[in-house]
Amino acid sequence: MLVTPVTKLLNIRVPIVQGGMQWVGVPSLAAAVSNAGGLGILTALTQPSPEALREAIRETRRKTDKPFGVNITLLPTINPPDYEGYIRAAVAEGVRIFETAGNNPKKIIAYLKGEGCTIIHKCTNIRHAKSAERLGVDILSIDGFECAGHPGEDDMPGLVLLARAAQEVKLPYLASGGVADSRGFVAALALGASGINMGTRFMCTVESPIHVKIKEKIVESTEQDTIHIFRTMRNTARVFKNKVSEEVVAIERRPGSKFEDVRELVSGVRGREVYVRGDPDYGIWSLGISAGLIRDIPTCEELVGRLEREAEEMLNGGITRKLSAKL
Ligand code: NAD
Repeated sequence: MLVTPVTKLLNIRVPIVQGGMQWVGVPSLAAAVSNAGGLGILTALTQPSPEALREAIRETRRKTDKPFGVNITLLPTINPPDYEGYIRAAVAEGVRIFETAGNNPKKIIAYLKGEGCTIIHKCTNIRHAKSAERLGVDILSIDGFECAGHPGEDDMPGLVLLARAAQEVKLPYLASGGVADSRGFVAALALGASGINMGTRFMCTVESPIHVKIKEKIVESTEQDTIHIFRTMRNTARVFKNKVSEEVVAIERRPGSKFEDVRELVSGVRGREVYVRGDPDYGIWSLGISAGLIRDIPTCEELVGRLEREAEEMLNGGITRKLSAKL
């Protein structure tokens, strides 16, 4: 049993969290991760309205009696979402675990703390981690440059970022970005983390709602198959490398280019179609470099069980046994 501050705070068996993912964090996946002993997370903005989020929360409860959370991401969007409406809806439905991510979360953290919620806040550098600590969050999710989606603008890979968190941060933290197997899991614990957060790995499970052709594409992909878009707009995002993302980067390189010049190519509504049609080249979709580690499409129960078993074996002398076997 891997008992850590994170398993205690979240009341889960294994310190494995499924991070928020646009169009992917839906009831079937969140409930499957929670039933497997980790923490499943619903992505609020994937639902078209706060009322739809309420229904998604009820549906998740019908599928699991274990704890699960809701992700709220505060980043630039094409249509401004009703953040307050989503948050109030989740709280009214009895959700008490939130994953927050993105810019200026101060007001939201204050509100959620006032409602007695446990907050996991995603940070891509130590400065933001310390500021979130001061704001009163409960757990930090330290997100390295390897991650899918938005890695911030500091380009700080997990190996150094997590070790720096061990030096600077008092709160328990999850290692996020680049973790997809038990090696990464144990390395994260060695780097001071109390658990892991995985996104890309959970996209490629039986219960993930995306088209099976995209899951197969992830299995085929290597760590070379992602690209950064939005670098020039200080909203960097790591996505699957295809014709659309390469075109976005080419447009961004033109002098004077603006968001409007790429808006049609990058819109989330178009990206969603990738998952519906099973066409990896249709639009933009987030992918971490941990894709290079993924070789199968297991159920969440198989995946969480495998990571738990292998990590325990490594922590109980497996690593030293392997090293001495090489002598
Ligand atoms: P969207 O269709 O509104 O925008 C598509 C992409 O363009 C997003 O990455 C967004 O950040 C970016 N963008 C929008 N306006 C921009 C601007 N003015 N300047 C620079 N970049 C801009 O987004 P969506 O797909 O409907 O997603 C909604 C929100 O959720 C976005 O902020 C997105 O980044 C975020 N998101 C969250 C997760 C998560 O893990 N929770 C994953 C992916 C995306």
